[in-house]
Amino acid sequence: MNQPVIDLSPKVSDEIRKTTCYMCACRCGINVHMKDGKVAYIEGNRDHPVNQGVLCAKGSAGIMQHNAPSRLKAPMKRVGPRGSGEFEEITWEEAYDIAVGILKPIRETAPEKLAFFTGRDQSQSFTSLWAQGFGTPNYAAHGGFCSVNMAAAGIYTMGGAFWEFGQPDWDRTKMVMIFGVAEDHDSNPIKMGLGKVKARGAKVYGVNPIRSGYNAVADEWVGITPGTDGLFILSLVHELFKAGKLDLDYLAQFTNAPVLVNGDEKSEDFGLLMRDKDNKLMVMDRATGKPAAFDAKGVKPDLAGSLREAGVSHRSVFQHMAEKYLDPQYAPEAVAERTGISAERIKRIAAELADVAFNQAIELDREWTDFRGNKHAKMVGRPVSFHAMRGISAHANGFQTCRALHVLQIILGSVETPGGMRFKPPYPKPPEAHPKPHYGVKPGQALDGPHLGFTHGPDDLALKDDGSPARIDKAFTWENPMSSHGMMHMVISNAHAGNPYKIDTLFMYMANMSWNSSMNTRGVIEMLTDQDGDGNYVIPNIIYSDAYSSEMVTYADLILPDTTYLERHDCISLLDRPICEADAVADAIRWPVVEPDRDVKGFQSALCDLGARLGLPGFVNEDGSQKYQDYADYITNHIRRPGVGPLAGFRGNGDDHGRGDSNPNQLDRYIENGGFWVEHVPEDAAFYKPWNMNYQDWAVKKSFFDKPQPYLFNLYVEPMRKFQLAAEGVGTRQPPEHLRERIKHTMDPLPIWYSNDEDNRASEYPITALTQRPMAMYHSWGGQNAWLRQIHGQNPLYVSQKIWDENDFSEGDWAKVTSPHGEITVPVALQAALNANTVWTWNAIGKRKGAWALEEDAPETTKGFLLNHLIHELLPPKGDGLRWANSDPITGQAAWFDLKVRICKTNAPSESQPSMPAQKSPVGKGPSHLEWKVGK
Ligand code: SF4
Repeated sequence: MNQPVIDLSPKVSDEIRKTTCYMCACRCGINVHMKDGKVAYIEGNRDHPVNQGVLCAKGSAGIMQHNAPSRLKAPMKRVGPRGSGEFEEITWEEAYDIAVGILKPIRETAPEKLAFFTGRDQSQSFTSLWAQGFGTPNYAAHGGFCSVNMAAAGIYTMGGAFWEFGQPDWDRTKMVMIFGVAEDHDSNPIKMGLGKVKARGAKVYGVNPIRSGYNAVADEWVGITPGTDGLFILSLVHELFKAGKLDLDYLAQFTNAPVLVNGDEKSEDFGLLMRDKDNKLMVMDRATGKPAAFDAKGVKPDLAGSLREAGVSHRSVFQHMAEKYLDPQYAPEAVAERTGISAERIKRIAAELADVAFNQAIELDREWTDFRGNKHAKMVGRPVSFHAMRGISAHANGFQTCRALHVLQIILGSVETPGGMRFKPPYPKPPEAHPKPHYGVKPGQALDGPHLGFTHGPDDLALKDDGSPARIDKAFTWENPMSSHGMMHMVISNAHAGNPYKIDTLFMYMANMSWNSSMNTRGVIEMLTDQDGDGNYVIPNIIYSDAYSSEMVTYADLILPDTTYLERHDCISLLDRPICEADAVADAIRWPVVEPDRDVKGFQSALCDLGARLGLPGFVNEDGSQKYQDYADYITNHIRRPGVGPLAGFRGNGDDHGRGDSNPNQLDRYIENGGFWVEHVPEDAAFYKPWNMNYQDWAVKKSFFDKPQPYLFNLYVEPMRKFQLAAEGVGTRQPPEHLRERIKHTMDPLPIWYSNDEDNRASEYPITALTQRPMAMYHSWGGQNAWLRQIHGQNPLYVSQKIWDENDFSEGDWAKVTSPHGEITVPVALQAALNANTVWTWNAIGKRKGAWALEEDAPETTKGFLLNHLIHELLPPKGDGLRWANSDPITGQAAWFDLKVRICKTNAPSESQPSMPAQKSPVGKGPSHLEWKVGK
């Protein structure tokens, strides 16, 4: 018999190029298979520290992102009215001439008239350098509307939070609780971690109003009422205090729990921490019974310490905590109804946490030495771990909620101990190791320092001499004193209102602000197109860079087209948002595995050109010539501090890691190494990082900081107390009258919980409306992806069984959803595993007609919708004559998840409402049928 000859292993590629995925923010290593010079397919890189070969649906669909018909093709200038979509393609030289013509006069006269904000890019150490060189104080990235509450609460409390800062000890933990997480920023590592945990039979709790994503595979789902996570967490804290299930030794040694607090109500230092003449925090020493500096050799800090000195009583932070958290307001019975979690269940969960932490403790035979010089024979682990992200942070009580979660971890002794939560180098870093905000503007000169940072009291606020905000987004003001990531979501409305001042140019990158990245979408569109009495735009100039024909492109005057992630250089830098693991320091690159076939340029390379043409410090040589020819040149040759550049690997002659001279062959070495560099944390430095001198010394060697900086965890955040003191009338810098009560109430130095229901008119709008990013599209900027949109081409509003029954909904029904701000009409679907008083939908599936090169009748435009139409950047009027920002009052984080709505059944319209007129697509439409074959 003749058998047919079948090639069972056809050659799939003739070359593999290893780079870094950018289909979400997780930044996995990928092998891009090339055939005939084209991308044939993408697989995970098994050697890569982040994903170890794992690839998600988004990652493999990168080929469709790279080939998307919506890619911009060339620089463009607007020729029709804003929003018309009428553009003319121009050369890069013309584009630069236009940009320089706008920007140069601003820089020479009033640099603050440039507002430069970037979206989800990960080159902030570079873009902020550019903005500093320009001299504007108005720079930030999108953290203010994403998860600044989580990041800032983590840094202020313990020197880092989750994702880029830290992760559960997946290999050892015996119980994991995830809060407010569906699919997440740390995508593949969490999937891999949960896989390990479940394979070991360890229990996974998912705390989330919605049972999707990771919550769907959790062993126990806690369908909490949105916005009450802090109350639930503090009730767990209450139970642990009540049962005495606290790691007292850990608290005494490594946290500010034993530090003495001034108790003299008449003192200007009331509530501040006691310090010695060297400014060291003071504790009572159990060995001597006397006060001592916290880090003195041999000191045994007393958690129950108190001291009366010079007529002033002091008590330890721990005593304040016990008093606060044993209060009956946090008892499970008191919080059950509000959180939607029964008292019995809260008590059981607290008991389980205590059992795993203390009865199932683990010990590693690893010696280590702490900062007091004490030697420890073992590393003792409390194997409960937590992970949380946007779900608990995107509320107006999010900062205190995130703080509460960190306090819960700390009282269990489970941070930086085996089986608990572990920091990823270069974290942890105490808040004092980060810059303070800078806003010193001088025409024609660079800003006086980095824009963003951490405030430690009223003196650090970005206020002008007359007390008005120095920044257009009003970050670091009395309204939001600790807005460490800026407040990008307030930029357009403040610029439009000319409050605190008018700007000339809005320059944005990768931020779809006229659609899914803004609250009050229609209002923002009106602000972007609004004209004054003379027919001039109220926001005079808008420059925008994007790789795709997004909704925002239409509202810009000048477009600088970016590349796709396979066509560009990038560095995933330790100076920025690194990709390290708890056991390893790592950084990575992207490089052009394919050259662009269009007249586009990586945005960062365009900034190098523009910086040189504007003569920005840092972007020109002494003779005025261009310093960096492109971003690759910057990555290779930029020196941030002596011996420290954007990439830590292969420095000097290629053998130096961490510190070393720049290496002209560095990028080649990364490419040879698979696109990344990794070095493992020494075993004796792997835990107790903030206090472990082996880690501290290793971190200095690797350039994370320049000298050892051991510190205590801040259960009590003293800077918050300083803001409170100012609100109580202490000091020369005090808040305006209308903000005093709010600051006193919200800025408690120990975590509290407060309700935002009244502000959001919950009595009239009793249902909470949320969004989540779908697993197949999390962070996949541009949902036009031909493969992924087959998974999520439209988004129903998911409603709970209770709401479904109350409205007598049937499959295929539509509902009118009304908030204090607006109304939408959308298709509904039933979801049983959903908090009873909650509705939700997938975020950013809905598209504007004409955008993303989609057909005008694409399901994304006819059935897809945005909840953004219902959310306003200001809270509903309260009758006090003021409109308060819809933000966390401490950090300014956009309170996306405080949205309250009413819902009722309605007749199905022809398409979801509001239906907005089509935009003219500057790139035409994609073909209805996409098919190609790479190679033979
Ligand atoms: S999309 Fe995100 S999780 Fe998926 S492979 Fe790419 S970087 Fe990793």
